[in-house]
Amino acid sequence: MFIIENKLMYHLKTFIEDQQAFDLEQLEALIQDGILLEDILVEQDWLKEENILSLKSIIYNTSYCDLRNETLDFNLANIIPEKLAIKYNMVPIRLVENSLYIVMNNPLFLPAIEDVNLITGYKIIPLVGRNKMIINCISQLYLNVQEEDSLLEQEELNENKYEVYNTNQGVINQFISAIINQAIKLKSSDIHIEPFKNFIQIRYRVDGKLRKARQINRDNLNSIIICIKVMGNMDITENKLPQDGHLDYKFNNEIWDLRLSTLPTNYGEKVVVRLRQQNVKSYSLQQLGFLQMQIDVVESLIKQKSGLILVTGPTGSGKSTTLMSIMNILNMPTVNIVTVEDPIETTLEGINQVEVNEKKGLTFEKTLRATLRQDFNVLMIGEIRDKITAEIASSAALTGHSIWSTLHTDNSISAFLRMIDMGIDKFLANQIIKGVIAQKLVRRLCSICKQRIILKQPILTLNIGDEVYTHKGCSKCNNEGYIDRIGVYEILIPRLHLKNMEYNQAELEVIAQKNGLKTLFQNAIELVKSGITSIEEIIEVFGLGGDFN
Ligand SMILES: [Zn+2]
Repeated sequence: MFIIENKLMYHLKTFIEDQQAFDLEQLEALIQDGILLEDILVEQDWLKEENILSLKSIIYNTSYCDLRNETLDFNLANIIPEKLAIKYNMVPIRLVENSLYIVMNNPLFLPAIEDVNLITGYKIIPLVGRNKMIINCISQLYLNVQEEDSLLEQEELNENKYEVYNTNQGVINQFISAIINQAIKLKSSDIHIEPFKNFIQIRYRVDGKLRKARQINRDNLNSIIICIKVMGNMDITENKLPQDGHLDYKFNNEIWDLRLSTLPTNYGEKVVVRLRQQNVKSYSLQQLGFLQMQIDVVESLIKQKSGLILVTGPTGSGKSTTLMSIMNILNMPTVNIVTVEDPIETTLEGINQVEVNEKKGLTFEKTLRATLRQDFNVLMIGEIRDKITAEIASSAALTGHSIWSTLHTDNSISAFLRMIDMGIDKFLANQIIKGVIAQKLVRRLCSICKQRIILKQPILTLNIGDEVYTHKGCSKCNNEGYIDRIGVYEILIPRLHLKNMEYNQAELEVIAQKNGLKTLFQNAIELVKSGITSIEEIIEVFGLGGDFN
């Protein structure tokens, strides 16, 4: 090892001695400062970058990489931890299938290559680069990433000639794009950029859960906020009031609708980016997670020529995805579909979507009444939010239209009763409400790493000896043990399940089950039995923690 480094020094020194033009005193002083000879020669313009690189390439018998020509891939910052990059003075430059190309000052230093191979699992292809260029790239790639507990180490690193460079706006733009691209790849619904006292935290919401993506130096906050405000067409001079912006973002030939919002906090402005895909791929009933028996029921609801069908669930339970997918199934040239939404969340080809605009006086009620005067077969109302909407929906349902809408309740019977609370006569409700689909989302176990267990004690409604699966975590699922989410449904058909209305909610729930209603919980247990999700997930989603921990 030292022999090779000495060889480089020898060549460089011979080169210097051959050139009489050098100021040897100055050279001596720079070397005293701990600056590497190769960096001095280039920075003093005594040697060209490519000459040093060719020389190093010959001496180390390794291809070189001229980092001046490389565009940094910020996603690689997640593959090699910053500490390791600094420790071995290396920068990851590209990932091609299973091979990770890294540029190193000394590409023959095997312990470094072994460490990176061990940590990343990739085949490592080392390239040689110039010391100072590598240091520059590390500081750009990680935007001086700091971890909460490593501030002390950071100071030590600074003493070790690890310089903190000012990042320019171009790098910040690239960084923001990389963050958005990665969020899209991970199927995130939101990105949170949150300033704290000593750092900025970036988190993604994936499958309903916030996940830490990375922390970066607070010094970048201003540039990041400005970059986002420019992207979202917001006022860059306003930082005391919350702002909203919007951006059409193209990634992999698909358009994403980004809603940007800023909120001033005590440590600066926080940013949330909501990601929605335009022309969203709609899903088949099977993909949405309906069981075969339920698919038959939903298909019969879809065929209804009149009546009201409700999709209900808490926020983020996937009810608009279900509704939009059903609209897509209904979407045929012979059927005229109109939607009234506030706001339009996803656009669908061939459907007339109307957006409520309260600011311009186009209230939900006005928009609905205007829509009713149009000729249509199917009307989708974004949400039944009050008595007026409920009344308009039910009278339209009575006059030969198929009306679909959402409510915000925990199960199907409470949605049915909510309509009655909003002034719909209970016998009329029983007649016009053709179905209520209640739903929740549960995480789907990673099929690569899920682990089979045989129950040794009864839990929930499962028995000793039942075979179920539990989560573990592997590289495929980012160590979460789960990939994606799937819907659990309960479909109430009032005509079948609620023949007699003279009862309270608790009694109605018992009656409906006697009449054949399968509840959300019962169907969730079916998903556990078929190995699609885990007991832990059901306990969490159904809020049963207190009873079972
Ligand atoms: Zn896995």
